[in-house]
Amino acid sequence: MLNASLKELASALDARQISSVELTSLFLQRIEALNLSLNAFITVDRDGALAAASAADASRAAGDAGPLTGIPIAHKDVFCTEGLLTSCGSKMLSNFVSPYDAHVVSLLRDAGTVLLGKTNMDEFAMGSSNENSFYGPARNPWNTGHVPGGSSGGSAVAVAARMSPVATGTDTGGSVRQPAAFCGITGIKPTYGLVSRFGMIAYASSLDQGGALGRSAEDCALLLSAMTGFDGRDSTSLDRPPADLSAELDQPLTGLRIGLPTEFFGPGMDDDVRAAVENALDEYRRLGAETVQVSLPNAKLAIPAYYVIAPAEASSNLSRFDGVRYGHRAAEYGDLADMYSKSRAQGFGAEVKRRILAGAYVLSHGYYDAYYLQAQKLRRLIADDFARAFAQCDVIAGPTAPTTAYAIGAKSDDPVQMYLGDIYTVAVNLAGLPAISLPAGSGAGGLPVGLQLIGNYFEEARLLAAAHGLQRVTDWHLRQPGDGQ
Ligand code: GLN
Repeated sequence: MLNASLKELASALDARQISSVELTSLFLQRIEALNLSLNAFITVDRDGALAAASAADASRAAGDAGPLTGIPIAHKDVFCTEGLLTSCGSKMLSNFVSPYDAHVVSLLRDAGTVLLGKTNMDEFAMGSSNENSFYGPARNPWNTGHVPGGSSGGSAVAVAARMSPVATGTDTGGSVRQPAAFCGITGIKPTYGLVSRFGMIAYASSLDQGGALGRSAEDCALLLSAMTGFDGRDSTSLDRPPADLSAELDQPLTGLRIGLPTEFFGPGMDDDVRAAVENALDEYRRLGAETVQVSLPNAKLAIPAYYVIAPAEASSNLSRFDGVRYGHRAAEYGDLADMYSKSRAQGFGAEVKRRILAGAYVLSHGYYDAYYLQAQKLRRLIADDFARAFAQCDVIAGPTAPTTAYAIGAKSDDPVQMYLGDIYTVAVNLAGLPAISLPAGSGAGGLPVGLQLIGNYFEEARLLAAAHGLQRVTDWHLRQPGDGQ
């Protein structure tokens, strides 16, 4: 059962081979056994999960069950959950019990999923390795000395180590795709605006987007279908007809044009990553897809543009954490300004402070034109590059990350090195496009390699079908980390 797909779980529940309470208990036991070493969960809600599971069993008995009824799930701790700690990986919110549910959380609750708990993450979703969590790093189940990626590291670990069948994440510059790649699972970030940001603690609002992590494209399709939908409480939510992202999964790949950007295959990528990606592309060619050369000439500007825009938005979004209404407040202080400053100095970690400072700087009078405005212009150029490339191809392929998962501590003292690891993922967010990462092989030390497929706007179904097509003929997504932890 721990290894079953969502479809298999749903049919086992339907056939009464197992109840949701039994299934939930199985995953809770697994969490209990592994969380001490993997640190995937910040909060485990045993009682809430068992109560939700027994409600799901009752709905099913009453003949009222959908595809996700009774399926256990984990949410990244960036999503507000009513009555449960919502820490966002920060000391600042280490005492924050949310009074309401994020839109995604209520959609998935209404769909009958059973929330196991909240997963570890880089503080305020700022990071690529999960080392920026106030709760300590989550560990990669393929090698516990290595990072799981970030910022949705806990969600990726939970799925990879079979502590939860699926999990939610968010992706501002790669935070669903990169941890999925590092942990050998599948993760999709949809078109900006498809998943409501209501109740999703904001990092960089014009880039943040909720996404799905699962073992396979098939599981991600089911989960993401249940997460999308218009929400009037998010001003950037798109009002589109509901999509069944599973409907096109079995479409043949014959004639699919896969664009290979020269800039994604240049120097900078490790050899083992390159070899795995090339192998996966060969497999696609065998399946009838054709590959075409495309160019994204401004791709190299994505990191500088992103690391101006994201901190700028973060500096504004994080100004709400002032110790007044909720969150950490310093125990001792003088006047109001001193209370603000001590609470923020104590509540935020080093990386968050670095970004607030950088963001406030690039927005400041005198520097706004030189940095922020320039970065916005680059953002347009990057989006235009994609538009031109999509005139020649249906999807764009490349590595998700230039390396496999690195050792804990290897980059934590060098923020620029850490930022450079986001080279293949951030451009997608700047353009607002959908993209998926799927396991495509294993690199040095047996660590997973991720293949990234990028689609045009609203092409989630095509991306999932392209990923599923590969997963029907390969078994990279079925490989599992050893259980020796
Ligand atoms: N690693 C990137 C950053 O630190 C992306 C994070 C994310 O997508 N939330 O900003």
